[in-house]
Amino acid sequence: MAAERLYHADSFLRRFSARVTAVRPAAPARAGEAGWELALDRTAFYPAGGGQPCDTGRLLPAPAGGASLEREVVSVAEDDGGEIWHAVRQPLAPGTPVEGEIAWNRRLDHMQQHSGQHLLSAVFLSELGAPTLSFHLGPATSNIDLAAPPLPEEALERVEIAVNRIVAEDRPVRARVVTRADAEALLQAGTLRKLPERPGAIRLIEIEACDHNACGGTHVRSTGQIGGLWLRGTEKVSRGVRVHFVCGLRAVRAGRADAAVLHQAAEALSVGAAEVAAAIARLKAEAKAADKERRRLREALAQAEASRLVAAAQAGGGTRIVEAACAGYDRDEVRLLAARTAGAAPRMVAILSSGEQPSARVVLARSPDLAFDCGALMQQALAERGLRGGGAADLAQAEVAAGDAAELRAALAARVRAVSA
Ligand SMILES: [Zn+2]
Repeated sequence: MAAERLYHADSFLRRFSARVTAVRPAAPARAGEAGWELALDRTAFYPAGGGQPCDTGRLLPAPAGGASLEREVVSVAEDDGGEIWHAVRQPLAPGTPVEGEIAWNRRLDHMQQHSGQHLLSAVFLSELGAPTLSFHLGPATSNIDLAAPPLPEEALERVEIAVNRIVAEDRPVRARVVTRADAEALLQAGTLRKLPERPGAIRLIEIEACDHNACGGTHVRSTGQIGGLWLRGTEKVSRGVRVHFVCGLRAVRAGRADAAVLHQAAEALSVGAAEVAAAIARLKAEAKAADKERRRLREALAQAEASRLVAAAQAGGGTRIVEAACAGYDRDEVRLLAARTAGAAPRMVAILSSGEQPSARVVLARSPDLAFDCGALMQQALAERGLRGGGAADLAQAEVAAGDAAELRAALAARVRAVSA
């Protein structure tokens, strides 16, 4: 017989007495965290379900004493037959009397988020006509998916205020079990929005003068115990809008974490918290201006260096060839320098390589009055070395091992001299 669910009658029950009714090796999927699973005749441990994660806690021998018999409950799950299995690392024999103890902070946190979700879903429906499609309670934040278009900030704030008013009113939250027929009557009357498909009695959770919901989870006793709700943000999902929220101590922790990040940012920027956004905007504008200035200087440097290279160029068959390794130039800079050098005088050819390791860029560029095809020459010179590459008629480039750059430059120079002769 499946365990009596003590959490249904009293979700604030933290300790309970029970007896082990069955033991079995854990299913392979769960064996990583615990080797065994125990069933009890009664339990206050909530198994995962309905968007709410499971409880954890301890099983102690009854009466308490003898720490060696203590069993940590690492997870709890319900099987298809409705039996609740408590995953433990060491088994206990059937018939063993135990005292169960729920990890209370975890449970209370789950009840706050879960009850907060009931309230939030009810207010989204009444304020904005937006029904909830699903609920997920994660380790840090919770979310609901709404069937709704993207929501303006003003609408979210309105919902948040309405929810927190009901929290402050400390309205009772009650659980009761009704027959299927009674539940269907409530559905007809519009008091209930939907019903689970499974047959049998229905457990209803009522937030006074606010919401009815068919739910098997654990809830607080009154809205005040939710402790407050904070809408953290929204994101668009395929079927509507995902709303992230936190309740109770989670909201305090989330606020504290956000404040720490903001404080760090403000300190790094040497401004007050309120000026962080403006300071970042200012830094971005400065970086943009600096980038523009850097481009201008790079261009000026390339022009000056090109003039120097042109002046030092060797003549060869009426064509002047500049062939050089440009230490201190990266691949983009060497490309710019080659283009500027080739464009600085008639019948100019630039064959330059960057100073990078482990691979360098070799660039071949010519002035517009020359007729040979840089891409074709580069392709031929590379093919000789078992490499592939090419480029345009007036500029071609290749990436080679830095140690091979000088040899490729020399080969390109020889080819340029041959076609210029
Ligand atoms: Zn619920």
